[in-house]
Amino acid sequence: MSESAFAHFAFADEVGPEKIVTVHEPRCGLEGIVVIDNSAAGPTMGGIRMAPDVTVEEVCRLARAMTWKNAMARLRHGGGKAGIRANPRTANREALIRQFGRAIRQLADYIPAPDMGTNETAMAWIRDEGGRSVGLSRSLGGIPLDQTGSTGFGLAIAAEVAEEVGVVTLEGATVSIQGFGNVGRPAARFLEERGARLVAVTDLDGAVHDPDGIDIDELAATMDATGGVTAYPRGRRLEGDAFLDLDVDFFVPAARPDVIDSGNASRAGCRVVLQGANIPVTPAGERILHDRGILSIPDFVANAGGIICGAVEYAGGSERQAFERIEDTVRGNTREVLERSRAEGCLPRDAAMSIARRRVSEVMAYRRAD
Ligand code: NAD
Repeated sequence: MSESAFAHFAFADEVGPEKIVTVHEPRCGLEGIVVIDNSAAGPTMGGIRMAPDVTVEEVCRLARAMTWKNAMARLRHGGGKAGIRANPRTANREALIRQFGRAIRQLADYIPAPDMGTNETAMAWIRDEGGRSVGLSRSLGGIPLDQTGSTGFGLAIAAEVAEEVGVVTLEGATVSIQGFGNVGRPAARFLEERGARLVAVTDLDGAVHDPDGIDIDELAATMDATGGVTAYPRGRRLEGDAFLDLDVDFFVPAARPDVIDSGNASRAGCRVVLQGANIPVTPAGERILHDRGILSIPDFVANAGGIICGAVEYAGGSERQAFERIEDTVRGNTREVLERSRAEGCLPRDAAMSIARRRVSEVMAYRRAD
């Protein structure tokens, strides 16, 4: 056969993916995907996304993002990711997740972590069935990476670096967040602790904007009670993607991929895009943001807090050690990326990519050649 079996995958290259495994269990309606992108640094680690529309291609792209993220953070883990095609609110959620845990038991080079639609309880089910996972509750000896807000903490550290390089001042800075879950909520809190003010939140049912500031606890309680951001009693509602136009210091995408693309990047009204979600800006979108003088801090640099926490948990470390490592790593990497981007006049994403590629090549050099 002259052509690679992966030739039709635009994303297959010398880095990966090493394995794409699909799981189908018609009796309980399970459709799952695992992508082991690159395991040169060690058994891969990355989240399980539960969403009704997750695809093989999306999981491949997310697994690659984990390869860059884990290498960037110098973890002893390569990049992997998984997806379960189902609504996380489905009645048989536990059965699906448990079945998935059993199905991936033999895939020892993938260590599951939480992602959109899964949490520490889901990780406990996976460990019960499959023997391994991170992001577990304290009662199971884990560091609940979502509950502790580890990714949001790392985002706030990246924001401090944006202040250091003179792009924004955190005291009084305005913040708009898309997605108010395990990343968005803690990010709002850690940014508020540093003097910033949350002024807009967008969720599945719409957006709310209050220039005087949104009370984070009140919004969280409203959302927990009603399921929607639009039930917040103050501010005005925004339609569609009007949240993108808002004149704010920070926009934090913390939900889906490809939120900013070539079609809407010219409308972005923020000074800094702090990438909480994975792959939230397309390459063309990044270019437009950069040309407009908007600083966009790449996902695999800024949102590494959760996976660093998972790696520290897996190695038997404490919560304090995890937060120290997040602070150290995210601060160091964000500085390195922004300095390089300035020195070379290139996009922060290009600067970050060249650093991550070099780190992946370094570990791949130790692999057996034949
Ligand atoms: P989550 O499920 O806890 O929260 C997601 C939030 O986004 C929810 O509020 C949901 O209602 C909202 N949302 C979903 N689709 C939306 C849409 N189309 N428009 C607007 N809002 C939408 O998930 P999470 O763990 O907070 O993850 C969010 C993103 O951050 C994902 O891209 C994930 O891969 C990434 N991420 C998560 C972590 C982590 O530690 N949890 C770490 C790194 C990156």
